[in-house]
Parts: sequence; structure tokens; C-alpha cells
Amino acid sequence: MPIAPKVVVVGGGNAGLCAAISAAESGADVTLLERSPRELRGGNSTFTAGAMRVAYEGTDDILTLVPDLTEHDLARTDFGSYDEGAFFDDLARVTQFRADPELAETLVSRSLSTLQWMRGNGVRFVPIYGRQAYEVNGKFTFWGGLTLEAVGGGPGLVESLGQIADRLGVKTRFNSRAVALDTGKDGVQGVVVRTGWEEETIACDAVVLAAGGFQSNVEWRTRYLGPGWDLAKVRGTSYNTGDGLRMALDIGASPAGNWSGAHAVQWDLNAPEYGDLAVGDGFQKHSYPLGIVVNNRGQRFVDEGADFRNYTYAKYGAQVLEQPNQVAWQVFDAKVDHLLRDEYRIKQVSRAEADTLEGLAAKLDGIDRAGFLATVAEYNAAVDQGVEFNPNVKDGRGTPGLDVPKTNWANTLDTPPFKAFAVTCGLTFTFGGLRIDTDAQVLDGDLAPIPGLYAAGEMTGGLFYFNYPGGSGLTNGSVFGRIAGERAATAAR
Ligand SMILES: Cc1cc2nc3c(=O)[nH]c(=O)nc-3n(C[C@H](O)[C@H](O)[C@H](O)COP(=O)(O)OP(=O)(O)OC[C@H]3O[C@@H](n4cnc5c(N)ncnc54)[C@H](O)[C@@H]3O)c2cc1C
Repeated sequence: MPIAPKVVVVGGGNAGLCAAISAAESGADVTLLERSPRELRGGNSTFTAGAMRVAYEGTDDILTLVPDLTEHDLARTDFGSYDEGAFFDDLARVTQFRADPELAETLVSRSLSTLQWMRGNGVRFVPIYGRQAYEVNGKFTFWGGLTLEAVGGGPGLVESLGQIADRLGVKTRFNSRAVALDTGKDGVQGVVVRTGWEEETIACDAVVLAAGGFQSNVEWRTRYLGPGWDLAKVRGTSYNTGDGLRMALDIGASPAGNWSGAHAVQWDLNAPEYGDLAVGDGFQKHSYPLGIVVNNRGQRFVDEGADFRNYTYAKYGAQVLEQPNQVAWQVFDAKVDHLLRDEYRIKQVSRAEADTLEGLAAKLDGIDRAGFLATVAEYNAAVDQGVEFNPNVKDGRGTPGLDVPKTNWANTLDTPPFKAFAVTCGLTFTFGGLRIDTDAQVLDGDLAPIPGLYAAGEMTGGLFYFNYPGGSGLTNGSVFGRIAGERAATAAR
């Protein structure tokens, strides 16, 4: 009987689990090393809503991923289409045309078949009715290219992938921190792993690194993202400290992508230093396109309605970090209260409410009250009342003449009660990473593949610059994780 090739996967989030599953399906003997204890498994992937961006032509494609949609669902929903061209264009546009075209093409063209593969293995998906479609005239219309999420969100996704990996015989070792790659004349031949303070080397034929970015390493993020980033809060796991990156760079891997850039959002001011699984992504505050955002001077500083939130949220956290005291206030009136996402109604929210704007200003700690009231008056006067408000489309209801424009969804703030939510910068993941090719193989400084070394997910560079289309992180991990696992198994054989 032929001996199964040995593959070690480092990191048990979405990318690592997809790699482990695909390597096991390809006949490899797979060991997955996860630094966290079992109860904290899944890295950043567990903290997600499980939303996954996928290219689809129409309802028929959606039905391959959500075959249990009822007639009632189909009748009340306009899924539209989000074809490969639209996904590719969105990725190119928000990354200012820096995204590596070959990696982007691979991500986009394999998104649907990869989610179908996940579904075929037992991962279930549902439409994101609450967050990505508003009901207008009895019909939900999806917008922003983000239509599906895994059942049970991030925890559900990780649970289901973990069960599939177990079923396929993947040997998962928790509390096992990979610290170095072992190399020989044929390339990578093992992984040094630390359990407690004890170290051992696991010999293998190929390694897939899927150990996340470096956002939880305060020293690295200050070094690479720049001054001030030490003050950001981390939205997810505390375990993604750049270990996988360091291990690969130590053996000559080439770094790639936007090492000074990161995905960062508006996040509750009083959230803890790292994510809290009991709250998940509830600390995020993503309904700002419906209101205004001001700093402690009372001034607006971003175009809240520049685009659907999926295309602006990942870059606005950095803008908040640049404001005095790294603080901003999102302000809404009662007209849009029913449209605010669920995360505005959790009990762990930093919120002020009043029946007058003056009363609200008095409750916003540290704000320049006169500056705030002047900003609101100027904004209210500029709102283009001639255009009808419609949150399902870019309605063009703007604020002509303002230095900081609001391009869509501009509503006057005039109907009490008024609410304000205090936010700071919440760092999701870092954009810089390892250079891989479309086979997910890691390249060295001479741009030659490193034999036996593959990488996937958050720790790869080249796709995301400055910004990111929401829901691409998980799809990126799944697409390249699946490729990495399969290639690692077959190359080793
Ligand atoms: C709050 C929040 C919400 C998000 N929502 C979404 C969303 O809805 N949709 C979306 O697409 N993206 C979302 N993202 C981004 C998404 O989480 C990431 O893009 C994706 O999960 C990255 O997957 P990964 O497998 O590469 O990394 P991770 O899921 O972070 O997995 C990396 C794993 O490696 C382990 N590890 C690290 N170092 C070592 C080591 N030395 N040895 C062994 N193991 C190690 C970690 O413990 C971790 O388990 C969100 C992120 C956060 C924080």
C-alpha cells in the first residue's frame, strides 16, 4: 500500500480547516496544529458573522448553496446577480487597482465552486436578510455583493468545518504552537512545535501555514502599520501574533502586499483589548451610512454615504484612529432608528440619548458642544430634500456644498429621540503577508516556489490594499485553503 503523504497545517481557523479537509480528501495524513485551547478554537473565523462573498449569476446559483429556500422566501426576495465581473471589479476598485490580478481572478472564479464544495461537505448557508437587504414595498433586495452567511455565523462555520475535519481523520492538536519550520535539501521537511515549554519537531512532506496576520502583536503593528496603531483595539483572537509570517520569513519567504495597511472598523469605544466571544462582532457599529460621524471637535471627517457600508467600513476605522483621543460619535435620529443593525441594541453598547440636540451634546463626554451643534445645523441645511431616501440603492441624496460631503442617504437630524454611539478603531486583520502563487505555494525572495510550503488566508499578501470588500476574508481563506491543502497533498506524493 502506498504511504500517505504527511501534511501539517498550522492554524485552525477557516483557511486552515479548509486546507486540512482538502488535504485529507486528497489522501494525505493530516495533522493540524492549533495554538489555542479547544474552547477558543477557530481564530478570527470564530468571531465573524460567517458572511461570505461569492460570485453568482442569479437565484439558481443561490439555490445550489441554499437548497432549502422556501417558495415564500423566493417570492419575497430579489437576489439579483453578482457575477464574476462585478466581484472582480469591486475588488480592484476598493484596493485602488493594486490587488494582484492573478490571485484576484483565482479568488473570484473559484468562489462559487468552493462554497459548493463546502456545502457538499456539510457547511450550511442562509441569506443575510437582516444586514444585507432592507424590506422595501414587501420585497427584500440584496445589495453590496454580500448575500450569504454560514448558519450559526463564525462559530457555526468553525464547528461545522471542525466536524468535517474530524470525520476525515484530521488529527487536531490544540495548545500546540508552531514556532519554526524545519528545512533540508528538498525544502520544508517539518515543523517545530511547542507545547508548554517543550519542543518537538514533527516531520512531514509539506506544510500549509494558515496562522493569521499580526494584528494581535502590538509591537509589530506599531512597527509596520505605524504610530498610533498600538492604541487600536483588536476585534478578534489574541493568538494571531504573526508567528506564521515570522517562521516563513526566517527561511527566506518573500513578503507581499500592503504591510502598512489593515482592515479596521468603527468599534465600541469601551470594547476590551481583544475580541470577546460572548459579544462576537456586536461591538462593530456599521449603520453609519444612515447618520453622521463626528469627532471630539464636533466635526465630520468622512463621507458616511460614500458607498454601501461593505465598501467603506474596512477603511473608516483608520480614520477614527486619527481623530483626537481616537474617538468618534455616530449620531442618528428617530427616523432611521428601525434601520439600525442589531449591534446597536446589545447591552454592551456605549450610547447616549436625548430629546434635543443640545441635550445630546451635553451627554457626549469630551465633545466641543458648540462645534457639534454648528456641524449638525450646517449638515441639516445642506441635505438635498428633493431626492427620495432609499437605503437599498445608492440614492444620491447628498449634501451639496459641504466641505466633507455625504453622498448618499443624507437625512436631516431633526426627529427625537437623538442617539449617539461612541466608537474607536477596531483592528480586524493586517493586509500584508506572504507572497503566494495561484497554487497557494509560498515564493522565496527570488520569486521561486519554496518546496513543501503553502499558505492561505489572512497571512497571505497581495489581495487587499487600503480597503476590502466585506465578506472576502472568509472566501479568500476557503478558496486558497482548499487549493493549498490539495496541492500540498499531491505535491508531496
Ligand atoms: C469581529 C470580526 C468579524 C469578521 N467578520 C467577517 C465576515 O463576516 N466575513 C468575512 O469574510 N470575514 C470576516 N472577518 C475577517 C475574517 O475573520 C478573516 O479574514 C478570516 O477569518 C481569516 O481566516 P484565517 O483562517 O486566515 O485566520 P484565523 O481564523 O484567525 O485562524 C488563524 C489560526 O491560527 C492560529 N495560530 C496563530 N499562530 C499559531 C501558531 N504559532 N501555531 C498554531 N496556530 C496558530 C490561531 O490561533 C487561529 O486559530 C471578521 C473578522 C473579525 C475579527
